[in-house]
Amino acid sequence: MQITANNPSRKSWLEVSSNSDFPIQNIPFGVFLTKDNVMTIGSRIGEYAIDLSALHQLGYFKDIELVDDVFLQDRLNDFIAHGKGIWRQVRNRIADLFDIENAKLQNKKKHRNQIIYDVQDIEMHLPVNVGDYTDFYSSKEHATNVGTIFRDPDNALLPNWLHLPVGYHGRSSSIVPTGKNIHRPYGQSKPAGAEKPVFGPSKLVDFELEMAFITTDVNKLGERIAIENAEDYIFGLVLFNDWSARDIQAWEYVPLGPFLGKSFASTISPWIVTLDALEPFRIESPKQDPKPFEYLQQIGANSFDIQLETFIKPENSDENLVTKSNFKYMYWTMAQQLTHHTSNGCNVRAGDMMGSGTISGPTPDSYGSMLELSWRGTKPIKLSDGSERKFINDNDTVIMRGTCKNKDVKIGFGECSSKLLPAL
Ligand code: CA
Repeated sequence: MQITANNPSRKSWLEVSSNSDFPIQNIPFGVFLTKDNVMTIGSRIGEYAIDLSALHQLGYFKDIELVDDVFLQDRLNDFIAHGKGIWRQVRNRIADLFDIENAKLQNKKKHRNQIIYDVQDIEMHLPVNVGDYTDFYSSKEHATNVGTIFRDPDNALLPNWLHLPVGYHGRSSSIVPTGKNIHRPYGQSKPAGAEKPVFGPSKLVDFELEMAFITTDVNKLGERIAIENAEDYIFGLVLFNDWSARDIQAWEYVPLGPFLGKSFASTISPWIVTLDALEPFRIESPKQDPKPFEYLQQIGANSFDIQLETFIKPENSDENLVTKSNFKYMYWTMAQQLTHHTSNGCNVRAGDMMGSGTISGPTPDSYGSMLELSWRGTKPIKLSDGSERKFINDNDTVIMRGTCKNKDVKIGFGECSSKLLPAL
């Protein structure tokens, strides 16, 4: 089935400013609370939110094989479990209904009033019930920087890194949507030169600039998937700030890997941009040497050109751009991550979330964490108000944005924003 929703010449009868992240070619999916206190599944065009359960009740999806209450829910899991064919039909239909050439909904004022909300009047919630969250470590630049900082510049990448997408199982319970503030975590750490560890608020809270993809049901327990089919199971992507406490992390991570230094919070952008919407932005991923095992080999353009930015906004001050990176720098692709994940027969389910790992680019202004940007605190970053940052201060807001642009269209992810409050 064609992705007719992506037609770049399409225009909507809803007003969309030229710099909007949400033109009619985007059609993301999310969950919101209306001003009448109704939780619903929706989409967005420009500054308007579209209530998909109202559209469904009014019969606009009636020839698509959808369960009756699929959109009258507080999470997208059931819709995602319907599979790629249905996502594509629904997205194509929404694009048709809001196309300026189509009078069907445009001329029905009563229906429009039931369906369309100003985004100022809604509250975004978590789009999915995340069953399991896995975090990868797939940027070669990031892994090299961290290996250099913490271990040995001559052996920065561990021997397994070029053979498999390294990952760990994270906590899904602490994934929160944009706008939800978090507190500086407590934990154990061992300050440099100290004889004994201490327990108290982390002193080195950091962001990790990542993206995460959300899956549908992939495989039954014991089954593996073929890499050429892996993308069929990826619903879409969000921006992902994987908050990290570097002092807690450094003390606890040997021998079993990340634990409480990572699990206190991860912030996501609330609109899931579908893999279909990103299709025009395919790009080749970095060349892999050595050649991966056959079960991980791919041909063609398997990454996506998504420009990423992170800003720090101190309390009562301006946003400061601290890094510009790009999703295309990832050494291991999403398909390789998902194929590797199921290669032992572990089952992946609808609503599972996979973090890319910190996405660092090749130059020092494209690193995806303060650990790297300030090189473990040795090179503080100057902000516009004259203050300096090695890591994140109390009451700083960290904001991430992501956009794809070509000559025809711009598709964006909105914002992933969260303030770090003092320790409780
Ligand atoms: Ca991470």
